[in-house]
Amino acid sequence: MQPRIPVGVLGATGMVGQSFVKFLEHHPWFELAWVGASDRSAGKKYQEATAWRLGGVMPAAAAGLMVRESTPGNGAPRLMFSAMDASVATEIERAFASAGHVIVSNSRNHRMESDVPLLVPEINASHLKLIPRQQRERGWTGQIVTNPNCSTVVLTMGLAPLKPYGIQRVVATTMQAISGAGYPGVASMDINANVIPYIGGEEEKMQTEAQKILGDLAGDRIEFLPAKVSASCNRVPVVDGHLIAVSVELARKASIEEVRDAFRSFRSVPQERELPSAPVRPLVYMNEQDRPQPRRDAERDNGMAVYIGRLRECPVFDYKFMACGHNTIRGAAGAAVLNAELMYSEGLLD
Ligand code: NAP
Repeated sequence: MQPRIPVGVLGATGMVGQSFVKFLEHHPWFELAWVGASDRSAGKKYQEATAWRLGGVMPAAAAGLMVRESTPGNGAPRLMFSAMDASVATEIERAFASAGHVIVSNSRNHRMESDVPLLVPEINASHLKLIPRQQRERGWTGQIVTNPNCSTVVLTMGLAPLKPYGIQRVVATTMQAISGAGYPGVASMDINANVIPYIGGEEEKMQTEAQKILGDLAGDRIEFLPAKVSASCNRVPVVDGHLIAVSVELARKASIEEVRDAFRSFRSVPQERELPSAPVRPLVYMNEQDRPQPRRDAERDNGMAVYIGRLRECPVFDYKFMACGHNTIRGAAGAAVLNAELMYSEGLLD
């Protein structure tokens, strides 16, 4: 058996950082060897610095690790996942990339920069070809790769099989889980038996990130998908799993059977390469009238598949459907780990 690749997690004490620690626990290729956080936590053991908020117990291998300061050096491995607070991620991630680290980030800070891949391995593996330009122009030996916002990944996975039909316009209305707001998140008095029709910055992120992810590589740039995307984002009293109602207009006529087949047959690079965290079927089409549902479906397939259902004709656009995915797994830690697996399979971690 090959030795596993040591990896670090920046922001390891936070909510998303804990998801990384949990997701990496039994990973066949990567071994958690280093955890970093703010200087409030540095110098303490991970179990002392971290209030564990996830189900199950803290992985034993992480509990005894010493939390390090978030500066390059400090014994940090080359491959680093990042789940840092957005207020500090820009400078710290750049410092690590400049010092030769591969940063696979879940933070929003670098997602829309033109030389940074905003990666969903099933959709745009070719966008990794931005890396040589990023390294050349910034003078880095390391690199930064990002994954999308948690609702954008669910939306774009649902749209990807329809790209050959020419996506023209999209209207997406989200019902987003409270875990997406981190801890302590939304006050219980606000979210219990209620819906909050506002999530700061979320609609803009969904609209622009989707165009980049579904865009095409042209030389060393991304040509954004020239589709209009309109998002309305709502927080609902669900713990985990974002559900999105999507309406889509297509340039080329497609029958409802063709669209359903496109969802059902969708497979891509992670499935061909059998990457360890890749779901066997990235999209699962559900025939039941009342599915997908966050509580019943988001955690299936280790939280890595996106569930699609209720495909029907739309009287305004062409088709409408529901998409559901796990926001802290496929929308955060699991997405970043799958990105790193893709990079490893491309020889980018050698
Ligand atoms: P969080 O629970 O507040 O955790 C923030 C982490 O950043 C902690 O580990 C914290 O360390 C660390 N940190 C804070 N200040 C620092 C500094 N000056 N230097 C180094 N590390 C510092 O936040 P979160 O909910 O996990 O979110 C983390 C990131 O992921 C954010 O950028 C967020 O936008 C993004 N995100 C979150 C979700 C979600 O579902 N929550 C989904 C997608 C993306 P200490 O414990 O030492 O303070």
